[in-house]
Amino acid sequence: MIILGIETSCDETSAALVADGRTLLGEVTATQMEIHAAFGGVVPEVASRHHVTSITQVVDKVMKDTQMSLDDVDAIAVTCGPGLLGSLLVGVSAAKGYALASGKPLIGVHHIAGHVAAAAIESDVAWPVLCLVVSGGHTELLTVDKSFQFEKLGATKDDAAGEAYDKVARLLGLAYPGGPKVDKLAQIGNASAYDFPRALLDEDTFDFSFSGLKSAVNNALTKQRNRREEIVSEDVCASFQAAVIDVLLEKTRRAIATTGLRQVVVAGGVAANQGLRQAMESFAVAEQVDVVFPPLRFCTDNAAMIAAAGYYRFCQGHQDDLYLNAYAQLPLEVWQAWPRHTAD
Ligand code: ATP
Ligand code: FE
Ligand code: MG
Repeated sequence: MIILGIETSCDETSAALVADGRTLLGEVTATQMEIHAAFGGVVPEVASRHHVTSITQVVDKVMKDTQMSLDDVDAIAVTCGPGLLGSLLVGVSAAKGYALASGKPLIGVHHIAGHVAAAAIESDVAWPVLCLVVSGGHTELLTVDKSFQFEKLGATKDDAAGEAYDKVARLLGLAYPGGPKVDKLAQIGNASAYDFPRALLDEDTFDFSFSGLKSAVNNALTKQRNRREEIVSEDVCASFQAAVIDVLLEKTRRAIATTGLRQVVVAGGVAANQGLRQAMESFAVAEQVDVVFPPLRFCTDNAAMIAAAGYYRFCQGHQDDLYLNAYAQLPLEVWQAWPRHTAD
């Protein structure tokens, strides 16, 4: 079954064709990274406008690259939330147009369900799994069963992990997007240079909190700047990253103990982090569990993951109609419980 996936929730305009939720046939992504870098972050209005000009181009290109047409597609899956509303609306409207023109089913996909599904593209995932979602807007521990149903164990109470990376990068004067730059500097820094806090570790909860860590970094830097001390960015990054990873690993360890699940999927943009990938590899050996990361290219936003999640959703018998809307906020459990729509 071939699904056309469309993703426009933030600053990437992406279209992909994926067979059976696991075989990538083609993907085309137009990134706006350089445009937003000039502003130090994504400007929603600017992002929507660029999606409008790119959306049909990326869909046309993926069709051309794969020598396919809408006739070859079984369904059209599109991110309907959460994300930037204006950006989401462009993808949802385009998907409706393609669905209407082709008569093919339309499936609204939750962006985080997409990040989770990314792990099963071109690799084997034995559901049910425990999933650690670490992205720009989310930090969550979920269980995902074999019918792709989610249950949330815990989530961040304030900043997401990716958000904390981006904020720390900004404090150090690193250009947007900061996460990958912090990752790089952390690899050559001293992780014991600063003793940053590990929030909520003492408490019996699967929730996370990263805003205190970000403030601790800010306070340390301010203090050093006031004293005119030299700041070694590599050490700040390494110490910050160590604090993030410690918390992620410990909460994952507890979730494994509670759920008994032995396979862990790490999903979202921060799953691209080299320090986290290495730490998780050692963790997997020590805890005797399987840890699966999506291939690097499927960690950050892409349409292949939306096509994959759309496939699972469609296999459950779910389909949306042309009343599908876009939602800036969309709890996973709300999306999951949506009534089954039919096209007629
Ligand atoms: P969400 O998926 O929660 O809606 P988003 O789509 O903006 O948010 P993603 O595309 O999943 O987020 O990931 C982007 C985030 O991942 C950014 O915060 C970015 O800094 C972070 N990120 C990307 N690569 C790395 C890396 N190597 N190390 C740390 N963080 C990274
Ligand atoms: Fe994302
Ligand atoms: Mg992005």
